[in-house]
Amino acid sequence: MPPVSLRQSAPPTPVAPPAAPPAPVRITESATVDQTFSQAAQSLGIDEGTIATLTDAFAGKVDMRRDIRKGDTLSVIYDRKSANEPAPDAPLAVRLTTGSSSHDVFLYRDPEGEARYYAKDGNSTTPGFSRYPLVFTRVSSDFSLRRLDPVTHRWQSHDGVDLAAPIGTPVYASAQGKVTFVGRQTGYGKVIMLDNPAPYSTVYAHLSRFAKGIRNGGTVKRGQVIGYVGETGWATGPHLHYEVRIDDVAMNPLTVDLPSDDRLHGKERRRFAKDAENLSAELSG
Ligand SMILES: [Zn+2]
Repeated sequence: MPPVSLRQSAPPTPVAPPAAPPAPVRITESATVDQTFSQAAQSLGIDEGTIATLTDAFAGKVDMRRDIRKGDTLSVIYDRKSANEPAPDAPLAVRLTTGSSSHDVFLYRDPEGEARYYAKDGNSTTPGFSRYPLVFTRVSSDFSLRRLDPVTHRWQSHDGVDLAAPIGTPVYASAQGKVTFVGRQTGYGKVIMLDNPAPYSTVYAHLSRFAKGIRNGGTVKRGQVIGYVGETGWATGPHLHYEVRIDDVAMNPLTVDLPSDDRLHGKERRRFAKDAENLSAELSG
């Protein structure tokens, strides 16, 4: 007689219901800045596209070139599908602590699935303005308020910043705008003036040449090349003299508050703010 297998003789086991998808695992991770924000972000598994998005998201508050120091910290919150799952590209919340101040941004997926980051209240933190209109090597002359020169006894000021860069370096429009002047002026040399979204306007001086298609009354987009670095006018070396004006009053381009792009509205904004409040509490541990 053949042996009877235990399995065959065992009572039928009930069919297990399909396993529920595992609950997401919420993970908070931190990195200490050794050199740059990008390196710290990379060490947390954040991809390059998201790093660029985050750099813009913090740009209204933190200048990644000037404000980041060794020892600053970056904290992120992720929802992973399971503990073994790699972190998704875009963290739900990011806290950047520079010196004694902390800045938080929170993820919002727009209807196209693009990752965008907002402040806790649902306002965009991404300025509709770039802080710098070119890639430069150093600030060769800072902004200074009008003062009485002790030697000449004349009122003098520097209404912008000088950003040193090689001749021919492309200069971008820092924000969308209308060209109010393109041409030569005493002192400025070859200069472009833009009327940006009110109350802002910008000036780009000492250019070697203008980009094709830049004309009085024309419009430019943010990031569009409008000209090239030179040393025309009263310039002692190749640099861009850059001005930012608010209601026609010169502000320091390196520190001026830059305007936000947009904000969430209505029900979406309320839901976002509630989630962000919780995430913020988690970041604070
Ligand atoms: Zn200057």
